[in-house]
Amino acid sequence: MTDQQGKPAIMAWSLRLARVAGIDIAVHATFALLLGWIALTVWRSTHSSAAVLQGLLFVLTLFACVVLHELGHALTARRFGIRTRSITLLPIGGVASMEKIPEDPKQEMLVAVAGPLVNVAIAVVIWLWLGLNNVAPPDPGQNAISMLGSPAAFLYSLLSINLMLAIFNMLPAFPMDGGRVLRAALATRMDHHLATLRAARIGQSMAVVLFFLGFFYSPILMLISVFIWLAAGAESGAEQLRHALHRVSTQQAMITRFDTLHVNDTLQRALDLTMHTDQKHYPVQDDYGTLKLLSQRDMLTALRQHGEQVRIGNLPLPTLECCELRQPMQQVLDQIQQQTTPVVGVTAQDKLVGLIHLENIMELLRIAEARAAHTERPPAT
Ligand SMILES: [Zn+2]
Repeated sequence: MTDQQGKPAIMAWSLRLARVAGIDIAVHATFALLLGWIALTVWRSTHSSAAVLQGLLFVLTLFACVVLHELGHALTARRFGIRTRSITLLPIGGVASMEKIPEDPKQEMLVAVAGPLVNVAIAVVIWLWLGLNNVAPPDPGQNAISMLGSPAAFLYSLLSINLMLAIFNMLPAFPMDGGRVLRAALATRMDHHLATLRAARIGQSMAVVLFFLGFFYSPILMLISVFIWLAAGAESGAEQLRHALHRVSTQQAMITRFDTLHVNDTLQRALDLTMHTDQKHYPVQDDYGTLKLLSQRDMLTALRQHGEQVRIGNLPLPTLECCELRQPMQQVLDQIQQQTTPVVGVTAQDKLVGLIHLENIMELLRIAEARAAHTERPPAT
């Protein structure tokens, strides 16, 4: 799976395990629940600590394969100049948090296919090793848990799970890799916007089919189908938003009436302003023109820690990222989605002339929609 809106370097509630090729590999806290659940299940049926260790070892090996799958995406994306901030392991799989998805359909296809190909490669390597060493497949009648004790069974299970991962990920539905391959394939023949909407619709039809299959065969499949349905809807919604931004200019979207603070101002002044206006984010300027951002949340944290007489310049504030007045709105939206703060400054000739908050963009789109609806109505008689 890939995700392009992961904002912080690593997800909240995650622990960094390692750094590979400049990418943080992290594990989410809920992963501990999965390991605990597996240990408990194995213990209940075997009462053997050796079996528990084997079960855990198997899950950890499996998740190492998931990390390799995500690295397949990340390293392919890097060849096209796209950085990946982190790979996070969740109990449901891995998520690679990329800066963006390549716009060129061929590149998108290669990045998407690279993950499942890694699983196929792992399966092939295991299969060759088993063949070269004449290892017989395990007796299928054996209990799944006791099976993992033998190295042959361990490897055979790992082989089949890697194949399953490759097949499952190639399902033509967002957010599966196959969904991105489908979109890229459609985008070579039609507009990117239409390709995304059509791929999302195919993904949702796929989810309906999986839901009915799951109804008869597996409740987990039903759960996954709901997840696919929602993800396809989200993808389609995000695309419609991007498309609507074609018609909006940066100048239209920005706020031009706002207060700016100076590094020498006290927190007291910021609190006064926030009490008397609805501004929630303040640009903070120093004498050299450097811009920082003070949010309401940072204000409250600072108030708790330092009291209201602290100078704003002494607080550890994030930089206010800026865009040019002439920059297309879609780029501005991408920028907001990639950074950790929800606001960008707008500059013209190196002067701050406006602020754009994600909410302003939404507001503007709602107005544009209502205006379009009005002009489409037949004139009143
Ligand atoms: Zn993938």
